[in-house]
Amino acid sequence: MPFLFETDEHAQLRETARRFAKAHIAPHARAWEEANEFPLALYGEAAKAGLLGISYPEGDGGAGGDVTHALVASEELVLAGGSVGTVVGLNSHGIALPPIVRLGTPEQRARLAAPVLRGEKVSALAITEPDAGSDVARIRTRAVRDGDAYVVDGRKTFITSGCRADVVVAAVRTGGEGHGGISLLVIEKGTPGFSVGRKLDKMGWWASDTAELVFEGCRVPASNLLGEENAGFFAIMVNFATERLYLASQCVAIAELAYRESVRYAKERSAFGKTLMGHQVTRHKLADMATRIAAARALVGECAVRVARGEQVPSLAAMTKNAATDMCSAVVDEAVQIHGGSGYMREVTVERLYRDARLYPIGGGTREIMNEIIAKVEGY
Ligand SMILES: Cc1cc2nc3c(=O)[nH]c(=O)nc-3n(C[C@H](O)[C@H](O)[C@H](O)COP(=O)(O)OP(=O)(O)OC[C@H]3O[C@@H](n4cnc5c(N)ncnc54)[C@H](O)[C@@H]3O)c2cc1C
Repeated sequence: MPFLFETDEHAQLRETARRFAKAHIAPHARAWEEANEFPLALYGEAAKAGLLGISYPEGDGGAGGDVTHALVASEELVLAGGSVGTVVGLNSHGIALPPIVRLGTPEQRARLAAPVLRGEKVSALAITEPDAGSDVARIRTRAVRDGDAYVVDGRKTFITSGCRADVVVAAVRTGGEGHGGISLLVIEKGTPGFSVGRKLDKMGWWASDTAELVFEGCRVPASNLLGEENAGFFAIMVNFATERLYLASQCVAIAELAYRESVRYAKERSAFGKTLMGHQVTRHKLADMATRIAAARALVGECAVRVARGEQVPSLAAMTKNAATDMCSAVVDEAVQIHGGSGYMREVTVERLYRDARLYPIGGGTREIMNEIIAKVEGY
């Protein structure tokens, strides 16, 4: 069911994304997930189809639109493409570029963001460190000003698209302890002292790469600082609200795909003389799944409209992420159950979706941290 906010423009975007995913992702979905990567050429193809620039200003090389357009396209990529890992890797610019577009000078936006939107370069957002995940204010990667450069030393971990990223938007410590000493600095591939520590093996999202990044005496031009020195924490928090909305909408797409696969399977598979669908308990399970998806979807739509209006909605974004995450965990679990033994097999889509879904109560801020934010905003 389309979101309530959808216009003809959204419908056209859905169609573009669906056609793209069917032609360029679906035929390779399983192979790319098993190979733990998708071809770099996909970025260029997605850019050519007009999909990478959605929600970015046309003046910066984007396609215009807002977060509602980006959500619709990304949902369709998951539904029609069937590879969550590919979509999150392809869309890593969704969390990396907004700080450049929001805080960057025209020169920075042209140099650092435009090539990513053209599909020529890959971008990543690097906040998390081995000793600082939920507690962003404790990051230790240090950037010390030395003439016209910052000398960066430290490590980042769990970075989506980290292995292939040309443009890394990194949280670095330029000032004292705590959130007041953090800045955002763009570190480009090829800068001496910047290397990929290792590519990490993980439970799900296999087609996307997740990496440890190492900075050792890495001299980064001071002209790559985004916004004011020591004002990065607020920018990171603003970015998180949109990231959480994106993650929530991925949960809805994953659950919808698992639901569709379950409906198909329930019609095909027979037990005790009738199809699974012929058993009332299966129909009720599917009805519960559909209801949960619809409820989370409504919240995603509400949050998307508010974010698109420019409202700061940290509490609503946190609620939306938790609601969508809980819904998705329950739906993929039931989908595996409906598939019986097949649901446990690697060749079956719901097995992969079950693994993919486990990331969402963790990534982009954990379930517990979402509740901390809600409690803080609500004032208790
Ligand atoms: C596949 C994947 C992709 C990722 N991509 C990126 C990326 O592109 N860029 C990036 O910067 N990061 C990325 N991350 C990192 C992700 O955002 C962090 O893993 C997440 O924020 C949690 O941090 P942590 O792993 O250090 O857990 P910790 O902060 O160590 O938390 C461990 C546990 O303690 C709980 N906990 C912590 N503090 C509290 C508290 N105050 N109250 C109650 N419970 C608490 C947490 O909820 C959690 O259950 C990615 C992670 C994964 C797994």
